[in-house]
Amino acid sequence: MIEHLHGNSDIEAILVEKTDRLYRNFKDYVIIDDLGLTVYLVKENEIIGKEASSHQKFIHGIKVLMAKNYVDNLSEEARKGLNQKAESGIYPGSNLPIGYKLGKHDGKSIPVVDETHKELAVQMFELYASGSYSILSLRQRLKAEGFISPERFKEDLRRRTLTKSTMHRLLRNPFYYGDFQWNDKLYTGTHPPLIPKELWNKVQANLDRFEKKEMLSKHQATPFIFKGLFVCGECGRSITAEKKVKKSGKEYTYYHCTKFETNCSQKAINETVIEKQITSSLHGLEMPQEAVSYVAMGLKTSLTTKRATADKIKRNFEEEKKLLEERLDSLYEDKLDGNIAKDFYERKADEYSTRIKELDEKISKMTHASLDYYDFGSKILELANKASFLYEKANPEEKKELLSFLLSNSTLKDRKALLQYKKPFDRVLERASCSDWRGRRGSNP
Ligand SMILES: [Zn+2]
Repeated sequence: MIEHLHGNSDIEAILVEKTDRLYRNFKDYVIIDDLGLTVYLVKENEIIGKEASSHQKFIHGIKVLMAKNYVDNLSEEARKGLNQKAESGIYPGSNLPIGYKLGKHDGKSIPVVDETHKELAVQMFELYASGSYSILSLRQRLKAEGFISPERFKEDLRRRTLTKSTMHRLLRNPFYYGDFQWNDKLYTGTHPPLIPKELWNKVQANLDRFEKKEMLSKHQATPFIFKGLFVCGECGRSITAEKKVKKSGKEYTYYHCTKFETNCSQKAINETVIEKQITSSLHGLEMPQEAVSYVAMGLKTSLTTKRATADKIKRNFEEEKKLLEERLDSLYEDKLDGNIAKDFYERKADEYSTRIKELDEKISKMTHASLDYYDFGSKILELANKASFLYEKANPEEKKELLSFLLSNSTLKDRKALLQYKKPFDRVLERASCSDWRGRRGSNP
């Protein structure tokens, strides 16, 4: 649909049932918003367009974020099936490490050894365990010995040039000694191992040692917090940073335009000046308590619709559960009275209990799904509200991370940082700086 919108500039409005129908992801929202289309949300009784007030847009932005979260929740059902497969020792994914391929067993697809590349995998571990190779030199040796060649990877062009990072990932993969990782959990696999666990452990120790060395050399210099965050407001070139030592011996960090092939007139700006401007801007994200509760109210309204549907489904599950429990009771009485045979009772009782257990899981999931949904929206507000506090407590790396989460396309001009907040934080800022919260309450959030 998004592609269709791009190709048809005469479209002015979209009609949708509910927020989560419209947006597959947050990016779609940004695109639709940028195209300046008017969106009619039928179920939520809302119109979002150029004319919509900024707080309507803001709450809409939050709903989009939450709709994504809701969709994520639903796909959990599909995930559960795969987790069961993992539980039984079979890797549920299809992307197997080099040395394995998918085979069939009893109609199920399972990982089997790929004889073409088995030796490559084994050699990779044995050589790296010796400690006399870096990943790069290991790759060269394997190439020289013909393990990595276009002919060998004829059927899999994607892997033809085993990159450094792919090799690193393979060496870290527990699959080779018989376990596997699935959704951040380690499972004991039933597939044949290619190497013993001791060899794998040795390789991990070597990798750890190497990474530690690399990290130490990286951390010696403190990072430039604002590098990559700004472009020049005059000529659009990137902003670079450098350290300078003054006569007093004190070190200063300056940011300035690279002025690449331009006649830019911008001068350098001291890091502490930018820092001050950023701190005060982040303060602007804080909202008066009244405003926070106002937005929370808007979120609740949208949640009510969603929850009504969820509650209805939940009630159906609960009714079915009650019915089954009653049946189970009368079945038991029938058995006591001698009206039915023992094996019939056991079969039926087992059937009912299994279904009741299933229903219990579904009911608890419905309860949690709607809670998560609300939680996510509040988290965005909370983060906005605490941004300046978090920033002041953060170390340089964390500052960098927080700022890149909140900001994009910011510029530096005339020694001023012009900060651009990402959605929906731009709306938070807009609303927070507007003192007249009650005045706009007339329109339905
Ligand atoms: Zn410039």
